[in-house]
Amino acid sequence: MSQTKKSLRGIVHASATNWASELGGDDPVFDLIDREVERQTTGLQLIASENFTSPAVMLATGSVLTNKYSEGYPGKRYYGGNAVVDDIEAIAIDRVKQLFGAEHANVQPHSGASANMAVYLALLNPGDTVLGLSLDHGGHLTHGSPVNASGILYNFVSYKVSGGEERIDMNEVRDLALKHRPKMIVAGTTSYTRRLEPEPFKKIADEVGALLMFDIAHLAGLVAGGAHPNPVPHADVVTFTTHKTLRGPRGGCILCKAEHAQKIDKGIFPGTQGGPLENAIAAKAIAFGEALTPMFREYAHQIVKNASALAGALARQGFRLVSGGTDTHMMVVDLTPFDADLTGKEAQLVLDEAGITLNKNTIPNDPRSPFVTSGVRIGTPSVTTQGMKEAEMEQIAELIATALRNRTDAAAIADVRARVAALCTRFPVYATA
Ligand SMILES: *Cc1c(COP(=O)(O)O)cnc(C)c1O
Repeated sequence: MSQTKKSLRGIVHASATNWASELGGDDPVFDLIDREVERQTTGLQLIASENFTSPAVMLATGSVLTNKYSEGYPGKRYYGGNAVVDDIEAIAIDRVKQLFGAEHANVQPHSGASANMAVYLALLNPGDTVLGLSLDHGGHLTHGSPVNASGILYNFVSYKVSGGEERIDMNEVRDLALKHRPKMIVAGTTSYTRRLEPEPFKKIADEVGALLMFDIAHLAGLVAGGAHPNPVPHADVVTFTTHKTLRGPRGGCILCKAEHAQKIDKGIFPGTQGGPLENAIAAKAIAFGEALTPMFREYAHQIVKNASALAGALARQGFRLVSGGTDTHMMVVDLTPFDADLTGKEAQLVLDEAGITLNKNTIPNDPRSPFVTSGVRIGTPSVTTQGMKEAEMEQIAELIATALRNRTDAAAIADVRARVAALCTRFPVYATA
């Protein structure tokens, strides 16, 4: 009889006895993880940058690949024993290039922020001028915030969304580009709800001789699923996170034109990172595989349909949608017309009590500070993964409005909490044995 083959599933399911910590043991960390399972599955997860990964992605993330050192790239490693890891990373690279139609991919960034810093290091010199969207108008910390390395090392100039329409004004982007002659233009946002068309950015970048970087951290899953324009054919570099709409493990990725490939790879290693997280890279490979399926395309389109439905329903409840609505997976809600005294901070707290998790968010030209705010940001990736559709979005809008209208009434909040739990029970995200 041949010996039973060792496998990851076998290791996880067998109760190991030669470790200080044991599966099924009494380490309180596992109790806390179970509490988090409970929190995630009995409340509504409406944070626009979050999602539920598949069990396959979680299994790979928690695998023996976390044991391996593999500094370098497939075929060019500094350590031995990397034959398997090379094959895994090569699959991740192939799949993501296919998914986005990219010439070159680096799947090693530990996060979206790491991906962006590596691109800047690769293609800019300290002090170079870069044009990016202002943080308080939907840009990201890594697009030149004065407290972030991007803003400390490079000379970022910000464009904003226009006053009336609350949309990115390409005339303003062009004027600023002509005036400041940036080395790079960064397009991409963290709380902007409208389509980001790549062609107008490309035209301006070409006119002023700037490099064009798209940061599609939030949009990657929509782009992969054909529910948002793909900037990859137009931009020099595209960065993204793998854990937002793309529904993979926590991590980042860089795509670029072949001409920038060597610089970008050096920007990650040895430029800004050491050993890659091959467990995360295996999980990225699995997520990219999932994103290549027709089922994922359908998912991406449903995310957008759900966001439109939720935005419409919230407007009918008396809220105002920043920029008039959404073309993506998220919306920014101005609370002022619903209740002038209600801040984003208080809304976040009250809704948390009611089992609805979202985050406060500034509205354009918000009179309140970023710690208080006059708005909230809401996203539909997680509830769409659960299988919810337009009808449930109507319900969610009503639950949000009811909780906020009765925010000083503990019984009313408890009632919403119970209705939220009942809704989540109808859409279980993970089956349990
Ligand atoms: C989320 C986000 C990032 C950063 O990703 P992390 O993985 O949190 O570092 C970068 N850029 C944009 C536009 C984002 O939305």
